[in-house]
Amino acid sequence: ELDLLKSKMYANITHEFRTPLTLIRGNAGEISEHQDGETREKAKCIIQGSDKILFLVNQMLNLSKVEEGNVPLHYLQTDLVAFVKFVTGEFQGYAEMRKIHLHFESQVERLVMDVEKEMLEGSLSNLLSNAIKYTPGGGEVIVSLRRLALPETSDHQVEISVRDTGIGIPADKLDKIFIRFYRVEDLQLPCQEGTGIGLTLVSEYLKLMKGSVRVISSPGKGSEFVLTLPVTHNAEAEEIIYQSGNTFHKVEESKDDSRTIEC
Ligand code: ATP
Ligand code: MG
Repeated sequence: ELDLLKSKMYANITHEFRTPLTLIRGNAGEISEHQDGETREKAKCIIQGSDKILFLVNQMLNLSKVEEGNVPLHYLQTDLVAFVKFVTGEFQGYAEMRKIHLHFESQVERLVMDVEKEMLEGSLSNLLSNAIKYTPGGGEVIVSLRRLALPETSDHQVEISVRDTGIGIPADKLDKIFIRFYRVEDLQLPCQEGTGIGLTLVSEYLKLMKGSVRVISSPGKGSEFVLTLPVTHNAEAEEIIYQSGNTFHKVEESKDDSRTIEC
């Protein structure tokens, strides 16, 4: 009962942060548009700070919802390859800022399947932000996608891996990193802000999507987080344009066509 009460209070407080924060952000946006010089720069700082808190508040709110079992799933059939490429592209600016070489590769050109876009984007974003955050400048982050056929059954799975050449995680900490608020303290690398809820959210999302997440890591060499998802074709098909940098990927699928895709 106490646990439930704590969880509810936590969700309510988090929720209450959102409205004033949105107002602060909106006003700072107007100031930065209409003012010049130092005032404009300071307003931009307020926007950046508010965005950071808003992101954290949303992560906490999402985690409370997941823990309460209060998250409806919305699947759509879409091209997973284009979607993962698009999400990776969103991190190009951050990677460049941290002098990290970020790239995407896929064993298959196209894979139309049921995708819970919000949860998958949330999971990938957390893995990508970790990979970039915990990799020193000059390092590499590779996102790769491969399709697995399980010989014993007719089931198919897809694996999305986020691999980095960063600081790695000590073996005795590997089973703890998915626990809420757990962080491995490493004083050698700056810019390591965080609250320790990113990976908890990833593992909860993967459970909801009937998939799994595993990690392989070697301190000083790097880490690889692998998401495994079932390949199914039950949802409505969507038509979408993914915009990543200057590239547009137009994906049009009908439900029947998508069943016959061979990769
Ligand atoms: P946030 O809530 O902002 O995501 P966080 O990044 O510290 O904070 P998690 O994403 O849950 O929290 O990760 C938990 C811990 O696992 C991190 O604090 C870090 O010590 C370790 N970790 C996660 N990903 C990596 C990685 N790619 N390389 C090295 N360590 C990692
Ligand atoms: Mg994180």
